[in-house]
Amino acid sequence: MPESYLFSEISRRVSAFKENNPGADIIRMGIGDVTRPLCGAAIEAMHRAVDDEADAASFHGYGPEQGYPFLRDRIAETDYRSRGIDIDADEIFVGDGAKSDLGNFGDILASDCRVAVTDPVYPVYVDTNVMAGRGGAPDGCRHEGIIYLPMTRENGYVPQLPSVRSDVIYLCSPNNPTGTAMTRDELKMWVDYARREGSLILFDSAYEAYIHNPDVPHSIYEIEGARDVAVEFRSFSKTAGFTGIRCGYTVVPRQLTGIGESGERVPLNRLWRRRQCTKFNGASYVSQRAAEATYTAEGRRQIAETIDYYMENARIMRESLAAAGYEVAGGVDSPYVWLKTPEGVSSWDFFDRLLSRVAVVGTPGAGFGACGEGYLRLTAFNTREATREAMERISRL
Ligand code: PLP
Repeated sequence: MPESYLFSEISRRVSAFKENNPGADIIRMGIGDVTRPLCGAAIEAMHRAVDDEADAASFHGYGPEQGYPFLRDRIAETDYRSRGIDIDADEIFVGDGAKSDLGNFGDILASDCRVAVTDPVYPVYVDTNVMAGRGGAPDGCRHEGIIYLPMTRENGYVPQLPSVRSDVIYLCSPNNPTGTAMTRDELKMWVDYARREGSLILFDSAYEAYIHNPDVPHSIYEIEGARDVAVEFRSFSKTAGFTGIRCGYTVVPRQLTGIGESGERVPLNRLWRRRQCTKFNGASYVSQRAAEATYTAEGRRQIAETIDYYMENARIMRESLAAAGYEVAGGVDSPYVWLKTPEGVSSWDFFDRLLSRVAVVGTPGAGFGACGEGYLRLTAFNTREATREAMERISRL
């Protein structure tokens, strides 16, 4: 495994800049973490859950590995059935966040699976497969064993079907890092491909709560036939600010199967439960109670308010950058804006230019894959004031 170089290199360059410019007011627009506090409903639920743990009569020790029914029932009802999607509580696995589940899911897949990822990509998909031995030989910033599906301005940031068959495809919509999202038709193209080829789609919808466009599905199960081919990963991190509290869930439909060693169909729901019961003891009672509270009427209203705050930042970013003559994608259905660097300027050169001239920090697109070269990712997670100030500085530049 090569060292994970992106964020350490960014902090090295920012520290060097700070040392030479001690008075500089640096604005960080590369933050991948939320910054607004947890909503009141979740905080109150956690206080109550802590009190439960203080009394023998209401104490909770080890919980069900798959998550408490009080949360799984809420998820099935609110995130799926109320939207006309047929998902039951026993198809939902509550965990400590999407990153672990996305990384761990490979435990139940064959070690020689052919994996396809988009380029640029959330690095967890690639690195966890390399750790599992599916990467093949390194080839520059790529791996020979992995199929890369470019997401570029030329294809409208929509990954196209591969020419070689892939067993497993990771799709992320709304996307990190490009901030773009797949429409119903675009996602249907992938579900149809997976059904035709017998492939498995691992669908990451960690940013689902940011979707505004009615033509962008919130769940892959809105697409007919997806229950046969797709696992969906969701998180309370960006939806409700749980990046520090930790809670997420994975949906594995009962009818979804893989092919066992002697050619028999193996339900992945059963295999994933087996894996989780072996290696995982559940998300904490306190965080599951907090997650449950985000589904109350008050909780819904509060988390929507926070998402609106970030998305207003995203709107300001898109509009200011476009007015300043930059080409931007994303920022409509996600908190990420994908900025094309000026002609002939590399991701890292543009990063350095913004840092040294206007003290604004972004994330170089090249760090997310070869096709990210020539882009910079900016996030909407800063304060309104800092976002406005950063946009003014970039516009002046
Ligand atoms: N998936 C994507 C695309 C992400 O960007 C992130 C976090 O940044 C995650 C998953 C991880 O989320 P969690 O905090 O639930 O582990």
